[in-house]
Amino acid sequence: MKALVLQEYKKFDHREVPAPQPAAGEVLIAVKACGICGSDVHGMDGSTGRRRPPVIMGHEAAGIIAAVGMGVTVWSVGDRVTFDSTIYCGECEFCRRGEINLCDNRRVLGVSCEDYRRDGAFAEFVAVPQRVLYRLPDGLPFEHAALVEPFSIALHAIRRVSIVLNDTVVVVGAGMIGLALVQALRHTGCGRLISVDVADDRLALAKKFGATDIVNSAKENAAEALLRLTHNRGTDVAFEAVGLTATVDLALRSVRKGGAVALVGNVAPKIEFPLQIAVTRELSIFGSCSSRGEYPAVLDMLARGGLDPAPFISAFAPLADGAAWFDRLYRKEPGLMKVVLHP
Ligand SMILES: [Zn+2]
Ligand SMILES: [Zn+2]
Repeated sequence: MKALVLQEYKKFDHREVPAPQPAAGEVLIAVKACGICGSDVHGMDGSTGRRRPPVIMGHEAAGIIAAVGMGVTVWSVGDRVTFDSTIYCGECEFCRRGEINLCDNRRVLGVSCEDYRRDGAFAEFVAVPQRVLYRLPDGLPFEHAALVEPFSIALHAIRRVSIVLNDTVVVVGAGMIGLALVQALRHTGCGRLISVDVADDRLALAKKFGATDIVNSAKENAAEALLRLTHNRGTDVAFEAVGLTATVDLALRSVRKGGAVALVGNVAPKIEFPLQIAVTRELSIFGSCSSRGEYPAVLDMLARGGLDPAPFISAFAPLADGAAWFDRLYRKEPGLMKVVLHP
């Protein structure tokens, strides 16, 4: 089969590789669409240590079952599916508690790190265990289904906190996850929904997706703007979707006393933390990692139009052109968001 192989850091090769075989309990999927994730772009130069070459990246995908392994009974050749980007073991303590995103033996598709290498979906075929599969609703295009994963991350973060009718909510960061949060939060009954970012084009999208207010933190003091917007009270809930000292600091400062903060972004492994604000204002702080169990809800909402992936997709391109698109994303070409590749 043809695959887009990260041959060495920052160098891709679209070439022939052996197709995977579905093991017992696995299915082979003919990949129809696979999105380029920010983590792939960050990883391609070696800076994250999680894309050690050679590796086939790609974990945001959808396709058609092309073959089934031994013991697969509920899935058939021809089924349209997407799958969880995290391959969980199903047997460890956390899996048995249903906390599959915290699995002790968690392996992310298309990741190659110190502990493991798991080829992903920038290829004609990928083999995955049947337990991570989800059926696509009729009529949902593969390109949209490929964006289930980022939306599921947003839904999971919303589940981590509790939002009460008419709560004021701020989302710090308007990248893919921050904007997915804005879209999804519209359905939670929150009142004022504020989006903060440094890019006007992304803030304009946030507005389109239902943000009631936008704040450009490159142009004004965002902490002051948020206080002004909330009559000096602060927001009830903050979502942090970047993961840097300045943005986490802003999220923590923006919530009212006793408010809640969901930390989703983690670009930086360590940050400076405003301890006294968190302690003396009795904030509830929740980490939120990946997703668990939110895929069916996202697929349903996509099918019914409650979530709209189309505005996120900047381009569709054949897998053979993948290297050039990775390069454009790596150079942070303005206006580029999600690029979906077709094997
Ligand atoms: Zn991703
Ligand atoms: Zn497990």
